Amino acid sequence: MAKTLRLLLGDQLNHKHSWFDKTDDEVLYFMAEMRQETDYVTHHIQKVVAFFSAMRNFSQWLQERGHSVIYYQLDHPDNKQDLTQNLVKLFKAHYIERFEYQLPDEYRLDQQLKEFSDSLELDSEAVDTEHFLTSRTDLETFFKGKKTYTMEYFYRDMRKKYDIMMANAKDPEGGKWNFDQSNRKKWKGEPEIPHERGFRKDVSALCKMIEEAGVKTMGSIDEQQFNWPTSREDGLSVLNYFCSNLLKHFGDYQDAMDPDQIYLFHSRLSFAMNSKLLHPLEVIEKVIDHWRANKDDIDISQVEGFVRQILGWREYMRGIYWMKMPGYRRSNKLDNQNELPDFYWTAETKMNCMHHAIKQSLDHAYAHHIQRLMITGNYALLTQTHPDEVDAWYLGIYIDALEWVEITNTRGMSQFADGGIVATKPYVSSGSYINKMSNYCSSCKYSVSKKTGDDACPFNSLYWNFLFEKREHFKNNQRMNMMMSMLDKKDPDELEQLVKRAQEIIKNPQKF
Ligand SMILES: Cc1cc2nc3c(=O)[nH]c(=O)nc-3n(C[C@H](O)[C@H](O)[C@H](O)COP(=O)(O)OP(=O)(O)OC[C@H]3O[C@@H](n4cnc5c(N)ncnc54)[C@H](O)[C@@H]3O)c2cc1C
Ligand code: SF4
Repeated sequence: MAKTLRLLLGDQLNHKHSWFDKTDDEVLYFMAEMRQETDYVTHHIQKVVAFFSAMRNFSQWLQERGHSVIYYQLDHPDNKQDLTQNLVKLFKAHYIERFEYQLPDEYRLDQQLKEFSDSLELDSEAVDTEHFLTSRTDLETFFKGKKTYTMEYFYRDMRKKYDIMMANAKDPEGGKWNFDQSNRKKWKGEPEIPHERGFRKDVSALCKMIEEAGVKTMGSIDEQQFNWPTSREDGLSVLNYFCSNLLKHFGDYQDAMDPDQIYLFHSRLSFAMNSKLLHPLEVIEKVIDHWRANKDDIDISQVEGFVRQILGWREYMRGIYWMKMPGYRRSNKLDNQNELPDFYWTAETKMNCMHHAIKQSLDHAYAHHIQRLMITGNYALLTQTHPDEVDAWYLGIYIDALEWVEITNTRGMSQFADGGIVATKPYVSSGSYINKMSNYCSSCKYSVSKKTGDDACPFNSLYWNFLFEKREHFKNNQRMNMMMSMLDKKDPDELEQLVKRAQEIIKNPQKF
């Protein structure tokens, strides 16, 4: 008879966890689809489907290996829809003497489980998820006593620590730590982009259950052809496909955007990694092994760019999260107060870049990094939107959105709400950057080269208005000196017109 109950959350699907090394008759695993998790924010329907599918597959995998699992579907009659209520009931029903859980990656769940286990009379223990390459506190220790938290230094340390792409103990392979400069090409129809490694899964029964339960979701789904990896085999297959077909152009076109190309050369691995189906080190090692075997075909810059995202940014964001929560959730250094326009939920806007970035997010629960940062994030920041509004949208809409990596990217990197912890200056731009990196502007109703007038690109006036209105916040930021001195040199009449047009856009976003 089971004496220990082990909880597995929906993003703790780590097949390699030492818990599963051997079966034990005294251990019972518990997994549950719950309203607590479907309702804390409005999620994209594909995100809910992806998590529930992946959890069901994982539970099946455990059972096939002889582990005992209680799995509550959302419509299970015993499901209380609340984590701790479910646990209390199971403890009683199964005479449980010990409770174990893996450390959650989200603060709200961490708090909930900590308070719950403190209140218990039975023994409890929280163990590591054995997924990340750093502990919750490693980043804080690394930057102890420093005024700034430069990602690059942390990344170099990680390269050395894990001996990844190193020529020797001190020097990077290829003579440089960072090949970012060569990763800035616009995509002009070539090279051809291979179709993504797709899946054609029928998830209609799952969708029906979610709908019948009355869960509020956003976005759309092709129920007969669900396209995301939801098992370890799927995840490995996406990884192999990326290595063989996409890696050789990954770095070059990492920042490129195109109205008809959703994924370009991006990996689509974030969900598989964030749900822990894939381990970050196995992804990095597989990519490096593939590169070593194909060095004639694949340049080091493509590989380093990819490794930096996972070994550097992904671990860094998690470290910042645990260093700065819970205060981080309330940060709003620029004192932005506006609402997000309705078109973030409909894509009905005349701005071509915004229309496409939002439409593909609603249709596929995906946009790549530069679309998130320099299109939707840029617009939200330039229109001075409250970070709570921005966070709720990003946390809901993307397949990979979990708070530890969403909030640090959104509030930190994209909205500068932390005042410069993650980004040393705000990621804002006028239309010219968007035009430089994308193929959106040529078919837009607005003219990217115009700053004022009815057909002027809205990003142009919004950009100057933002600098003008937020001037005080940037007066001590050296990285903003060039932008601020350009603002100072602006002709006052032109600036007045720019500010007027920007105010119109902010007041009436649906018109644009
Ligand atoms: C405003 C904003 C919000 C974001 N929200 C999320 C989020 O909720 N969840 C999430 O996983 N990523 C988020 N990102 C980071 C990044 O956009 C996604 O990880 C990436 O687009 C996922 O697609 P991909 O797997 O094809 O990535 P690729 O471009 O192929 O990159 C490979 C992997 O690197 C990692 N990575 C890349 N950039 C980052 C980054 N900035 N932070 C952390 N990991 C990174 C991801 O694991 C990704 O799968 C956000 C970025 C911005 C600007
Ligand atoms: S012209 Fe402006 S609004 Fe239109 S696509 Fe280009 S940047 Fe976007």
